[in-house]
Amino acid sequence: MSQLLAGVDLGGTTAKLAVADLEGEIVSECAIATEAHHGPENVLARIGDQLEELASKSSASISTIGFGAPGLVDIETGRTRFLPNLTGNWRDVDVAGTLGKRFSCPVRVLNDARAATLAELRFGHGASTPGLKMAFFSIGTGIGGGVAVNGELLLGPLGSAGELGHQTILPDGPLCGCGNHGCLETLASGTAIAAEGIRLMQMGLAPHLYEAVDGDANRVTPREMNLAAVHDSALRDALERAVTWIGIAAANVVTMLHPDLIVFGGGVAALGDLLLDTVRDQITTRVGMFPTDNVRVELSQLGDRAGVLGAIALAADAYQTPSSSSSGMHS
Ligand SMILES: [Zn+2]
Repeated sequence: MSQLLAGVDLGGTTAKLAVADLEGEIVSECAIATEAHHGPENVLARIGDQLEELASKSSASISTIGFGAPGLVDIETGRTRFLPNLTGNWRDVDVAGTLGKRFSCPVRVLNDARAATLAELRFGHGASTPGLKMAFFSIGTGIGGGVAVNGELLLGPLGSAGELGHQTILPDGPLCGCGNHGCLETLASGTAIAAEGIRLMQMGLAPHLYEAVDGDANRVTPREMNLAAVHDSALRDALERAVTWIGIAAANVVTMLHPDLIVFGGGVAALGDLLLDTVRDQITTRVGMFPTDNVRVELSQLGDRAGVLGAIALAADAYQTPSSSSSGMHS
């Protein structure tokens, strides 16, 4: 029976699953509703069922599994620590043990934004540039991140290095889920940007947005705001403020790392040139210690598949070095 790598990208609302050949080429994939409120046992069982189905389509068996999880995980034990975006008790869930037992194979678990960073290295911008130094911002519901040095993911204890969304931007800013005030995530995540859009719409300051979403707050997204911002100047100001904060965070990262490349993924990447141009301006303006013309700022090449592709890359690493959970990565 031929062998497949399996990847799981567990999100707050959707879990994306894929199986790939040993070169990392995806053979089949699917997505299921996470429905985290049913509890970890139920969610992992349904993920297992789907993986079995995907593998059986190719009459193959699963050799290793990579698993991206939204929050803090222990990469040594493959257990979750803290997944704030999932309802139910997701503390200390033995993901690697549960799926490893079911499929009799190694399972490697990593934070989802770090997994997306790994995907960008292997399958995106990094694929053609070995030895890349890169910082990746994943800007969606929250802001995750990852850093790669010499073409390898920088992980640190627990795999928690690279939390770029939790750098302080406003010392007295809003309270963040991590306990700090004024983290980038509180100011410029998709959630934070949409919240400001909703506020402006409900105050009558964004009439074109109101029209576009029929006044429905649930339909307000950074993308909708960007479209309406052509007419609604208050929205334009709000978006510019948010991407400037992102630019300040990126400039901090450039000062610390002098990377070759900064990549933006996640839903907020839909802001496109507004995001990229502002970030480039902020880097030029704020990084004064060395020239930054060689620092490229780009959107992810992988879109919303970065997470699941990263999980496949993790599975590939586990296949090559099944005994060590951190091999091939710097800690
Ligand atoms: Zn924070």
